[in-house]
Amino acid sequence: MMRFTKFLLIAVLALAVLAACDGPLANALLTVDTSRCVGCSECEEVCPYNAIEVIDGDAVINPNLCHQCNRCIEICPEGAIF
Ligand code: SF4
Ligand code: SF4
Repeated sequence: MMRFTKFLLIAVLALAVLAACDGPLANALLTVDTSRCVGCSECEEVCPYNAIEVIDGDAVINPNLCHQCNRCIEICPEGAIF
């Protein structure tokens, strides 16, 4: 019985981690190279989660909103997001 409870606890924890990874928490790893960014706003326009804002000519990604769909990476003409 104790083993089953342990298994259940681990399963619930694993599901919680998976649920978190499916959302905004999966990100925080995207970077904008400001030396390349020309502030064209294409990434801002393509982001379906409004996670990017161009501020003072540089794209800024909000890791709390980003779902890591990679659309901004694909559309950036300068290769400034990675
Ligand atoms: S698409 Fe690229 S160059 Fe344009 S604002 Fe976004 S990061 Fe900067
Ligand atoms: S990866 Fe997707 S959700 Fe995240 S900032 Fe880029 S376009 Fe937006």
